[in-house]
Amino acid sequence: MIQLSQRMVALGTARSEIREAFAFAQARAAEVGAENVDDFSIGNPSVPAPETVAQAVRELVDSVDPIKLHGYTPAQGDGEVRQALAEDLNRRHGTAYGPDDFYLTAGAAGALCCVLSALGCPGDQFVTFAPYFPEYKVFVESAGGELVAVPADLADFQIDFDAFTAALNPQVKGVIINSPNNPTGVVYSEATIRRLGQTLAEKSQEYGHPIWLISDEPYREIVYQDTPLPWVPDYYANTLVCYSYSKSLSLPGQRIGYVLVPPQAQEAKLVYAAVCGAGRALGYVCAPSLFQLVAARCVGQTSDMAVYRRNRDLLLDALREMGYTCAQPDGAFYLFPRTPEPDAGAFCQRARKYDLVLVPGDSFGCPGHVRISYCVPTEQIQRALPKFRALAREYGLC
Ligand code: PLP
Repeated sequence: MIQLSQRMVALGTARSEIREAFAFAQARAAEVGAENVDDFSIGNPSVPAPETVAQAVRELVDSVDPIKLHGYTPAQGDGEVRQALAEDLNRRHGTAYGPDDFYLTAGAAGALCCVLSALGCPGDQFVTFAPYFPEYKVFVESAGGELVAVPADLADFQIDFDAFTAALNPQVKGVIINSPNNPTGVVYSEATIRRLGQTLAEKSQEYGHPIWLISDEPYREIVYQDTPLPWVPDYYANTLVCYSYSKSLSLPGQRIGYVLVPPQAQEAKLVYAAVCGAGRALGYVCAPSLFQLVAARCVGQTSDMAVYRRNRDLLLDALREMGYTCAQPDGAFYLFPRTPEPDAGAFCQRARKYDLVLVPGDSFGCPGHVRISYCVPTEQIQRALPKFRALAREYGLC
């Protein structure tokens, strides 16, 4: 019998509920035809990358020496690319970031893994808020830490500050937030971010060490409210930003994103060095070189978010009218309604009778809810509405 890491075998063998639902939808599509299966399981952007991405790729391939274009870049990323990213954020937030505050990564997942490895020491706890992206647990544990989930504030999925302060203790090294949120679509209000920053500042003072705020922002550009998103480092200096172009530019397969270590953070240079060290130890070497350049050329642009807004409006209005209860989703491309029975798994099984594929909230640490990923063609939503209605009728909602 060969000896392997049992943890890695388990991670590689057990499929996530999202993947399981997606596989079910694929299998059913092969059986009954894709047009009869309404798969809302996965968060793969449904709108193409903007034309400027293809243009940038073409121009770069035609004009840049292939040895440079496809070669290694410095570990932290190409200097001019980092400069372009800094200028973009400075323009938008009135900040004064420089290229040496950015470390380019393979998406937000790579950014989170680097930050968590940079911060994590044995025995450290990282706090997050239910419902949360399930991979946080994998990433935190890989960095030697323990993930602690604060129960959800079910009324509006802002932060339950009593529950949050109860979770804080001197072992807490960091807090992970994700706004706009996967799976709820909820955007943290300015009041929430302000109070979060104040709480962390007080507790850092009390414990005599900083509690780092890790702001996971792959959906930063996908917002439907008029009020601008609060720029988190403005509210708490010890914030580390993890960003990704997976959703904003519809480039999830190209694996491009960054960590920003704002210079206002405590010992920022040392933290930045630890992030670089983590990238080295994890074997990332450098972020994909072609898409570093593409990201710099497409800075400030996004895919067509109008489709997501249309989908959200259509689905949210219809579900509420059918009697489902759903917190206000002002961003990302997910809805997280309450299930009409406490067992969300049983609800999802019932939905499958109609070839309607949803993901139970249990996988996000929030039972009694279901995630609907509406990054799908609008026609799919139109086609699925009678199925949602039939389900609602089964439960006497309408
Ligand atoms: N964080 C959240 C909340 C996500 O939803 C995702 C992907 O869906 C990620 C991180 C990872 O994103 P990336 O593809 O940029 O690694």
